[in-house]
Amino acid sequence: MLRAGDVVVRTPEHLLATLAALGVWDVAIELEGDELPALDGSAAGWVDAVDEAGRVPTGPLEPRLPSGVARIEADGVATLEPGASVGVAVAYDDGPSGLLEVPATEEAFRAEVAWARTFVLARDVPRLLAAGRGRGASEANTVVWPTSELRAPDEPVRHKLLDAWGDLALAGPIRARWFVERGHHQLHVHALREALA
Ligand SMILES: [Zn+2]
Repeated sequence: MLRAGDVVVRTPEHLLATLAALGVWDVAIELEGDELPALDGSAAGWVDAVDEAGRVPTGPLEPRLPSGVARIEADGVATLEPGASVGVAVAYDDGPSGLLEVPATEEAFRAEVAWARTFVLARDVPRLLAAGRGRGASEANTVVWPTSELRAPDEPVRHKLLDAWGDLALAGPIRARWFVERGHHQLHVHALREALA
């Protein structure tokens, strides 16, 4: 697990989601540089990496259980409550929208979530480039909505689910229903801190 004081790595959420979904909580990762490779913009390559490295069973974990319903509303809404699923509701102004909730299982992660790639809205591309963000982004690792060809019509929704799962991993082993509407990293972290304080 990432611990305070460990090197701060940018863009870890796809790897964290993969590790959490595949039940890996004790792992050593060697990294060159301060940013993880974007791969194809999805978590598929991380799943392959874990499969290749192999996993050693260490006995059952004691997952955290939320004691009640915690609902945090800011510019989006994040809910953590008893259950065992991860879900998102996505609603961009003239952007992708949809709702998807999957069981928080390795099988669902592999089948429904891992392959969904990072996306940007075409209208945001000039602003992101001007701000110096998105360097390293290319058509090979970033879907431009709505012009790129998608792996599924709701691939952007699935990718938001991947990101939400990665942030949930920051809570450590947990059994809960985690559902976010119009979520983003800051909201997720804020909500998990409040809910698990
Ligand atoms: Zn992402």
